[in-house]
Amino acid sequence: MGTGEVELARVLIVEDDREIAELVAAYLTREGFAAAIVGSAEEAILECSGRMPELLLLDLGLPGADGLDLLRYFRERSTAPVIIVSARESDEDKVIGLGLGADDFVSKPFSPKVLAARVKAQLRRASYGSTGERVAFGSYVLDFEGKLLERRSGPSPERVPLSRREFELLSFLVANEGRTYGPEELYKAVWGLEHGDLSTVAVHVQRVRRKIEEEGSPPKWLVTVPGAGYRFLRDRKP
Ligand code: CA
Repeated sequence: MGTGEVELARVLIVEDDREIAELVAAYLTREGFAAAIVGSAEEAILECSGRMPELLLLDLGLPGADGLDLLRYFRERSTAPVIIVSARESDEDKVIGLGLGADDFVSKPFSPKVLAARVKAQLRRASYGSTGERVAFGSYVLDFEGKLLERRSGPSPERVPLSRREFELLSFLVANEGRTYGPEELYKAVWGLEHGDLSTVAVHVQRVRRKIEEEGSPPKWLVTVPGAGYRFLRDRKP
């Protein structure tokens, strides 16, 4: 990128009605955003694999995969704002969408001007949080700077209570995502001690799992690597 070039916030419009999509794109461009249009969840995933947008405008009724599935996919990879723009006006969709981490919900038909204002408001809010790094996985957001873990299970995020050690253990594994650490290494890194009771590591892993993993299922995020230790992974190949 050349010097002096201003990088515009990129909005990805996922909408199968081309006319609506182009109208929205024209408004957003006029307001100073870079808008890209895709017509399905599949195309959106392809687009996101190139570069994650700063905001997602999401229609729920799409050909192929459902908009809510795309929302789930997106939330596992990004904390960027998501605005659902949908003709499906049922409260159920709204509740599910917000529960999956959508930030706002606009019903069709809508005024493009109002929608552009909502986009602006969301991007302004998102930029406040960008001073410290945050990592999203599933419906969780780990905030390194704020030293807290949030769960987006309803309209407003709720804080997941973690002890200081539990937070540090989770943060260490998230920050070193994909790498496996044995109990000794974790003990050194998180407890800062060379020697001690290593079983405390497994105890803390269990405690963290109780807070982030689904009960009764094998761990999805904080997994055991047999004979090696523990690893945190967001994007697991099936
Ligand atoms: Ca549609």
